[in-house]
Amino acid sequence: MSTQITIKNLENILGFVTLLTNQEVKLYDIQTEPLTFEPYCYSKEFNELITALYQENFIISFDWLAWKQSADSFITNPELLTVADISTLQKLFTTHIRQERFCSGHLARMIDNKHLLAIFQRLQAIYAAGMLENNHNHGEAKMSQQTSVIQGDITQLPVDAIVNAAKNSLLGGGGVDGAIHRAAGPELLAECRLLNGCATGEAKITKGYQLPAKWVIHTVGPVWYGGDRGEDEMLGRCYRNSLALAAQYQLKTIAFPAISTGVYGFPMERACKIAVSEVNKFLHSHKSIEQVIFVCFGQSAYDCYLKVIRELT
Ligand code: ADP
Repeated sequence: MSTQITIKNLENILGFVTLLTNQEVKLYDIQTEPLTFEPYCYSKEFNELITALYQENFIISFDWLAWKQSADSFITNPELLTVADISTLQKLFTTHIRQERFCSGHLARMIDNKHLLAIFQRLQAIYAAGMLENNHNHGEAKMSQQTSVIQGDITQLPVDAIVNAAKNSLLGGGGVDGAIHRAAGPELLAECRLLNGCATGEAKITKGYQLPAKWVIHTVGPVWYGGDRGEDEMLGRCYRNSLALAAQYQLKTIAFPAISTGVYGFPMERACKIAVSEVNKFLHSHKSIEQVIFVCFGQSAYDCYLKVIRELT
């Protein structure tokens, strides 16, 4: 069986990252009654992660006992992880999971000391860098030097700022908003509470906390009521105001989701045309922004962006 890691393998594993960042999720318990051989009991969700690690080629056949000391050095010097490649990460996962068999509770310690999370964050960075590179190299989707469209999860991107399709309260919600808050951790909500909400079409900025992105620009898209209530203009303002904030903070790389096209019901193609033309117009007069990435969640959004980009360029 091949132990090569593909983008799909990575995506299937990275889906579990929220398990490690969401403090409400319980991953293990110290068993009290009835007493069994295993003092630690891992949750169903955590066991699913372990199964996925096997299925997605992260557990490999190699002499992990001989390599254990190297694995330990990543715990004592976490900065080593920032340059670890995929094959090193495979060895790390393998060593820790095998070690659990010998020493029950080992994985629980790796959860508590955040080492497992750090390994995941390195995986995220490798994944995001690969996504950005792919889009540069297979430039069908590229629109200009400064803009590109990719398919993926916006919370994984190591850009200067990701844009959040937020609610007026700025206190989190479902969709991309929920995903961003989960990945950034509770400090994001704490900062958002200080902002007094945000009017539709406006934008506000916070730090990115545990996200790979340094900043989050929160903008509130219009709810779609059929198109006669100024929805187009309001959506255009979301893009303009978000970009103006990015320029004001001297940010160079910004990623947008398809604002308003989820729960707020804005038709995808119409929203997409507004997004692409507003971004193009803004970049024309603001050279400090180096790259804007449209992040599509799913194939149909991606196909729609490609179609619109072809039409508009
Ligand atoms: P809105 O309330 O503005 O409609 P939603 O979050 O419901 O916001 O949806 C906005 C868009 O973001 C939708 O196209 C949705 O598919 C997409 N989306 C949801 N989660 C993510 C994510 N993690 N990364 C990128 N886009 C996402």
